[in-house]
Amino acid sequence: MQNQRFQSWAISKTYMSKNPFLFNTHDLPRRAGEMREYELTIDSHEALGFEVLAIAQDEPIDIDLRIESVAEGILATATVRTEASGECGRCLDAVYYDVDETFQELYEYVEDPRQARKRNKPGKKRPQKSEEDDLDEDLVRQMDGDMIDLDGPIRDAVILNLPINPLCSPDCPGLCPDCGVKWIELPEDHAHAPADIRWAGLENWAGPTGE
Ligand SMILES: [Zn+2]
Ligand SMILES: [Zn+2]
Repeated sequence: MQNQRFQSWAISKTYMSKNPFLFNTHDLPRRAGEMREYELTIDSHEALGFEVLAIAQDEPIDIDLRIESVAEGILATATVRTEASGECGRCLDAVYYDVDETFQELYEYVEDPRQARKRNKPGKKRPQKSEEDDLDEDLVRQMDGDMIDLDGPIRDAVILNLPINPLCSPDCPGLCPDCGVKWIELPEDHAHAPADIRWAGLENWAGPTGE
């Protein structure tokens, strides 16, 4: 049916535009040991990061992606390179920060729900696991058909490693708190103290019409 086909295309296109980090693993044979490598550039995405420092919207994100078939699913290993921009926390100058991070993420095949129930029964035939492993298990990512969603791992790798207080240089002297001019542009003896004292007195004077 022509209409139906168009509709499903439209839906998947909307979905794709919502999440540019979905990757189709269709080309990878589902046989343990098989591997494929890709060079991707994602240049249509929302801003990632904080107000002071972020990968700007649509700033190209280059990804070297390797996907491997393993018994449980697909193991993705990636290097993520991009540039974050923001402003110095002291002088408000623009700052740029090279992002070069790696991550590895396992995407499990989605199990038949009936199978999953069986496995979760007490006395299941699974190797003994520590509490830590159980915690990790909650974070297991699953495949969505042939799709793997790189959004979470990319955000984790990139955002968690961005400096929270970006500086234009480690010893940036910042701004004069009184006039807001950069210390670096002010003479060494720059000071406001005498003027401030005079004006401080006037501030309390309500003027000729005051009491
Ligand atoms: Zn600065
Ligand atoms: Zn000043």
